[in-house]
Amino acid sequence: MTDLHVDGQRLWRTLHELAEIGATDAGGVARVALTDADKAGRDQFVEWVVEIGCAVHLDRMGNLFARREGADPERDPVVIGSHLDSQPTGGKFDGAYGVMVGLEILRVLDDAGHRTNAPIEVVSWTNEEGARFPPAMLGSGVFGGEFSLEEGLGAVTTDGTKLGDELVRIGYSGTEPCGGRPVGYYLEPHIEQGPILEANGKPVGVVTGVQGIRWYDVSIKGFESHAGTTPMDRRSDAMVSAANLISATDDIAKARVDGRSTVGVITSMPGSRNTVAGSVNLTVDLRHPDPDELSRMHDELIETASAIDPSASVEQIWYSPPVVFNASVVEAIRKSAAESGFEPIDIVSGAGHDAVYVNRVAPAGMLFIPCEEGLSHNEAESIVIEHSTAGAEVTLQAVLRLAEPA
Ligand SMILES: [Zn+2]
Repeated sequence: MTDLHVDGQRLWRTLHELAEIGATDAGGVARVALTDADKAGRDQFVEWVVEIGCAVHLDRMGNLFARREGADPERDPVVIGSHLDSQPTGGKFDGAYGVMVGLEILRVLDDAGHRTNAPIEVVSWTNEEGARFPPAMLGSGVFGGEFSLEEGLGAVTTDGTKLGDELVRIGYSGTEPCGGRPVGYYLEPHIEQGPILEANGKPVGVVTGVQGIRWYDVSIKGFESHAGTTPMDRRSDAMVSAANLISATDDIAKARVDGRSTVGVITSMPGSRNTVAGSVNLTVDLRHPDPDELSRMHDELIETASAIDPSASVEQIWYSPPVVFNASVVEAIRKSAAESGFEPIDIVSGAGHDAVYVNRVAPAGMLFIPCEEGLSHNEAESIVIEHSTAGAEVTLQAVLRLAEPA
């Protein structure tokens, strides 16, 4: 433990000041990537970090880094961060919490005139949510080598607007290369977006990894026919097959403690109430922390689909393998939490985060704080100041642990 501590009230005020940018009537935030509101949020962040003497760096994906120099020019920085963009009807804390914790840490160091050994940087990654420019985590994804710069800048909205053009429009297209920037360690504080910490009465969770995700496009064929004149035994009804498959998909996850399965989108053709559906397309999202178990879930989905309808096509369109975070970062967070008087629990993240892609190129880890009823991606998303302060304090101590000489 050091004699440096965060100012929980100041962090709380800053979080709420930021939440005024893109504030919605229902108490949430709409700061969708590369809109004017996102620009305003970025401008505010830049103003705050420049005030305390940080240098601002911007890469070609618009990832924004605030840097406070360290005493040892040979050391790579300890980087804290997350994202300032939100869902269209998002909450105040998803992403913003991590960036504002980073800012609070910079302010603590500035107030104390404390020079860490390693430099400290705070990053806001571009387009984490992917709500306007799918896929999600694009800025950190290019940084971590998952996507090329061309893919990142070429991401388009449904109306064909390019991410690269919007970056230029809002003035956040940087000149530095995206990727290759030295990162000694990366820490991402985030709200849990799930109910586990709250249920366990814990203010802080040490995130050991992120569950693996597989996405599928499923297509089921039937035969269009008249709803009134076609007897039940003469139908080939794609909707009924789809219903059976949805139910079976639910069972695949329920057979496992840590399994998850979701059918989020369903479309049928011709989409007429008095015509038997000729085809149904649906999406499937499967998740599990263990890659082997996730691969068994994959096999079961394929088998079940072909048992229900031999002509069904199940195409996997995305695989994000389970992530195990860096042991040194996880340990620094765990020790700092214990020494700060919180008995943390280990937790596996159910959602993807920027730390997943950063972890490919640098030692990374995450810390969670609870959010009320686990609710997120919702304007009602809510946290309490005690947890906000706890997460920031643990992050500060972990950063100091990692930034000083071994
Ligand atoms: Zn987030």
